[in-house]
Amino acid sequence: MLSCVLAESGTRGPLDVEYASAITPGELVRERVPAYGFPENAARALGRIAAYAAWRQQPPALYWTFDDLHPDEARDLCRAAVDSRGAGWLTGEETRRVLNAFGLPLVPTVLARSADDAAALASVVGYPVVAKLQTRTLVHKSDVGAVQVGLTSERAVRAAFRDLTAIAVNHPPNPDEGEGVVIQPMVSGGVETMIGITDDPVFGPLVAFGLGGIHVEVLGDVRFRIAPLTDRDADALIRGIRGYKLLQGYRGHPPVDIDALRELLLRMSRLAEDVPEIAQLDLNPVMALSPGNGCRIVDARIKVSPRRSGVSAPAMATTTVAT
Ligand code: ADP
Ligand code: MG
Repeated sequence: MLSCVLAESGTRGPLDVEYASAITPGELVRERVPAYGFPENAARALGRIAAYAAWRQQPPALYWTFDDLHPDEARDLCRAAVDSRGAGWLTGEETRRVLNAFGLPLVPTVLARSADDAAALASVVGYPVVAKLQTRTLVHKSDVGAVQVGLTSERAVRAAFRDLTAIAVNHPPNPDEGEGVVIQPMVSGGVETMIGITDDPVFGPLVAFGLGGIHVEVLGDVRFRIAPLTDRDADALIRGIRGYKLLQGYRGHPPVDIDALRELLLRMSRLAEDVPEIAQLDLNPVMALSPGNGCRIVDARIKVSPRRSGVSAPAMATTTVAT
């Protein structure tokens, strides 16, 4: 119960009230009723109470874990990279191994060492394919024309190999570390999103989610949450971006597989926690496909640096998801 009382200035609530008990006959009940000078304030207070009641009625949020994770493998690899080369970006091959250790859905990405090799790999991967130049020295590949999408024939693949080899003169790859021209299947029909990890000096690892692809920097539609994420945190991240409507389907475009995005965010949260050497991780884009078809990572990079210290994970209620 709330009250709204107009009184002389200086008179303040709450009001002391007395009334006959409806439960015990003859008993007098004494209560204090919050009082507000204006109805707007009373309505605001009731709104807060209603929101709090709705929040309390939600099912408890859960920390998920998965039974197909290999954190030791990813941690050993990142530590070895820091020990041998110091802070910096992982190679394409190392990046693939870290993502695989956490069951993150990277599209098959294979290194072609010649035009013949590229043509043979394209027919194994299945047309249409994408060819791109992958080297640690080239951060934004499409800026220099180093990504060729929608290649539908052997001829197109051979031509792409030649073009990318010419670009490689200015951005030399290291084939011993799995760098060079890579072939991937072309993923079409999804919405481009991005998922990342950054290391905040105060809060530790943060997980980022937003719309992705080469336009993401223009739109800046990205949200962050502190790891570890609960399933409810992951849903709030997904629903929190301005472009959420694009993920729900619009004008004949189907919606995307939100369950798969949530799972990907929760796996990323585990990676952020379990491998403290990860200073930055960008999956951009992650192609979010229609419900039941999951998502595919088509571009990934990971920066490692000497281990974070001091931030330990809180005790958690977890649920294991069988895969
Ligand atoms: P970079 O970010 O370094 O420029 P990406 O590998 O992210 O290079 O490629 C740039 C863009 O090309 C992506 O945002 C996406 O639109 C497209 N693209 C890249 N690889 C694929 C793929 N396998 N399937 C479909 N589109 C792709
Ligand atoms: Mg990219």
